[in-house]
Amino acid sequence: MKWLSNRYAYPLVIFAILISGALQFAWLNQLFIAQRVQVKLDLEQTVADAAKMSSYMSVVPGHEGNENFRNFFLSPEWRQFSQAYTNMRYKIGSRFDDHYNADSTILNISLRFGNEKERGSQHRRVVRFDFGEPLRVSQAKDRRDRKRMDSLVHREIDKTEFSLTTYTAIRGYADDNIINGLAADKIKNAAFTSRQYTYDLKFFHTYQLVVPAIDGLVLYRMRYYLISSCLMLLLTGAVFIFILRLMHNQRLYAQARLSFTSNMTHELKTPVATVAIALESIMENHLENDPVTLRNYLEISRSELKRLNLMIDKVLNIEQLDHGQDRLRAELFDVQLCLQEVIGSMQLQLKNASASIQWQPLDEPCFVSGDPVHLTNVFYNLIENAIKYGGKGVIIEVSCKRMSEEIMISFKDNGPGIAAIYQDRVFERYFRIPVGTTAIHNVKGTGLGLNYVKQIVEKQGGRITLSSEVGKGSNFIIYLPANK
Ligand code: ADP
Repeated sequence: MKWLSNRYAYPLVIFAILISGALQFAWLNQLFIAQRVQVKLDLEQTVADAAKMSSYMSVVPGHEGNENFRNFFLSPEWRQFSQAYTNMRYKIGSRFDDHYNADSTILNISLRFGNEKERGSQHRRVVRFDFGEPLRVSQAKDRRDRKRMDSLVHREIDKTEFSLTTYTAIRGYADDNIINGLAADKIKNAAFTSRQYTYDLKFFHTYQLVVPAIDGLVLYRMRYYLISSCLMLLLTGAVFIFILRLMHNQRLYAQARLSFTSNMTHELKTPVATVAIALESIMENHLENDPVTLRNYLEISRSELKRLNLMIDKVLNIEQLDHGQDRLRAELFDVQLCLQEVIGSMQLQLKNASASIQWQPLDEPCFVSGDPVHLTNVFYNLIENAIKYGGKGVIIEVSCKRMSEEIMISFKDNGPGIAAIYQDRVFERYFRIPVGTTAIHNVKGTGLGLNYVKQIVEKQGGRITLSSEVGKGSNFIIYLPANK
């Protein structure tokens, strides 16, 4: 999988996201087209149903209890039949008549196929529907019927919960002229125009629904698909980013491990080589006869071996923490006393680095419950780092403060500081700030120290924070639960 993690990973991820985006788009586009057709069909059906109901309601007075009447006028067949009349009204003459008997109503429907001579006759165009007596066309009733038709249509449209702009075209049944003042180009440019429907049985006018734009309604209907598609894309993107970051971190980790190994080898070899040279010199130069030089060489060897020991301890401590062999003890522990001892033991290092420590113990003791060995290592690490990275003449301020629930221990230096981008990362294992980014020059280290410090502090129920500014210095603050 090496090829995946290196050169091709990013292009592959971008390619995958682009392809999945394009597929989603194509799929949504298909859905949009299909939904557009469906919306038009639904609107047509809405107007057709309203026309059927409106026609029925216009003739039902007087026939309310008649099931057969109802079944007939509300049947789709009748609707198709009467719609066919409307559609064919220029081609044929037709006529409805009915007769009441004591037990039934007879509806006669007649078609009149006019001959050439009759072309132009008014009679040919008018479809009549009569109950018993010829029905008198009443404008007022027609207006009421039209209003009912309109409200039936809009009641249905309102159910979509989408505010759809609509117009209505009312045309003369016989001459097809728009009589309600709707501009013809509104119909021409509309996204949807329904067929013309008669809304009562007088066939005086036709009703037509005009919708200027339906895309909004289509998108509204597709909203769940759109949202889920966006979510899917976002999720895919997020997963890819997560995986890439993971890969990136793993690469950094692998690099850090590699440089740790070489650093460590160097760190271990230096004291061994120094001690070897010192011993060789002692033997070759018969330094037993020169006690001052001998003592000097032995001193060097002792301090190198001490350094070696500390290094090994560091690695072992981390190993133990990793393998859960760290039974941290919980003893009453005087933080100030420990700080005093650690500072005392570092006088030589401080002197070599021309560094100074400002440390003012408080009168009241600061007790925590913790493991003395590990906490001593923690303090040692932080002061050692301040000396190591602070540069010649660094001033280190160590202070301890008792708060209501916690003990706050601060290690502040006026060294080179740590850039904001590295402030979290310095606590990662093996992480060392790349040389050249700050004033730190080639200081030896393993990248284990702060990781160990953080682990111990957290295992003791505390936390560590870092505030630092490049060029001004760093302040590592430890908070440990106070022992009451
Ligand atoms: P090591 O010191 O072995 O490299 P640490 O985990 O102790 O590992 O430190 C990690 C990095 O944090 C160091 O490499 C150093 O760059 C930076 N650092 C730690 N303490 C300080 C400090 N007081 N001032 C500036 N940089 C620091």
